[in-house]
Amino acid sequence: MLSSVRAVLLADDPALKHQSAVPLGRVIVALAPSYSALVASTSSVGKDVMPRVAAMIDVTQVSEVTRIVEARTFEHPVYASNAIETVRVMSAHVVLTIRCSAFAPADNAAEAAPIRRVQIEVGKSATVVLAETLSPTDRPTLGGARVIIAGGRALGSKEQFDALLVPLADRLGAAIGASRAAVDAGYASNDRQVGQTGKIVAPQIYVAVGISGAIQHLAGIKDAKTIVAINKDAQAPIFEVADYGLVGDLFELVPELTRQLEHAHA
Ligand code: FAD
Repeated sequence: MLSSVRAVLLADDPALKHQSAVPLGRVIVALAPSYSALVASTSSVGKDVMPRVAAMIDVTQVSEVTRIVEARTFEHPVYASNAIETVRVMSAHVVLTIRCSAFAPADNAAEAAPIRRVQIEVGKSATVVLAETLSPTDRPTLGGARVIIAGGRALGSKEQFDALLVPLADRLGAAIGASRAAVDAGYASNDRQVGQTGKIVAPQIYVAVGISGAIQHLAGIKDAKTIVAINKDAQAPIFEVADYGLVGDLFELVPELTRQLEHAHA
């Protein structure tokens, strides 16, 4: 299988600035006849544009591929990652989104790939992007973090979420994640949500603080190497997947853990 990039096609058009699905989809579909596989990562852009591309060329997309069995056969999780389905694609084109955390990074090619400009009529779109806001942070991103501290509904407020989790995350150089309940309650921004409808993460250590362990949350942390759970309910489902568990009140345990880590580093 090809392990490096052979060429980069550059479609430079102001209409593509925001990578919206309509203009980007038109570019990909225009290029599609020269390729048998159209592949994107399962990022917000990939999840937005690839189903549109698949519909435009009338094929079925395979989403969140976790293993390429051969050129037309793929594995991907279904039912909130509770089953793995093997799919063989019979159409001429294969359209995929890839769960990046399931694959090792590609090797750096010895030589840089050539960049070729392509001219494609992007046309008009009924979608207008009004604003784009970045959440600035010095922390590692959830996708690439070695350690993630994630908080749930039990944190009770945004102030408590930040007051407890930020010092612990600072101590460990960790990214901060959240359950959907915590995001819905406004304790953390949307881009921090971990789970089926949030980010799928694969850190070395995932610390779940006051998170019950609903299947939709667990779907996002199946690839975490070590899971640590802090929860006052010893029966919480998170303990079924946790490698280490602390049963108790997070408002006592988290500051204590942060203090202990400070002493250990002093
Ligand atoms: P809760 O379930 O309310 O759990 C709070 C936990 O904190 C409990 O276990 C409790 O024992 C513990 N606790 C309370 N007080 C303390 C304390 N003082 N000290 C220690 N522990 C304490 N959820 C996601 O997270 N991500 C998703 O992507 C996602 N997608 C979804 C998609 C669909 C279609 C649906 C239907 C749901 C989805 N959900 C998702 C929601 C999910 O089902 C749960 O509702 C959510 O994960 C619960 O969040 P939580 O664990 O923070 O809250």
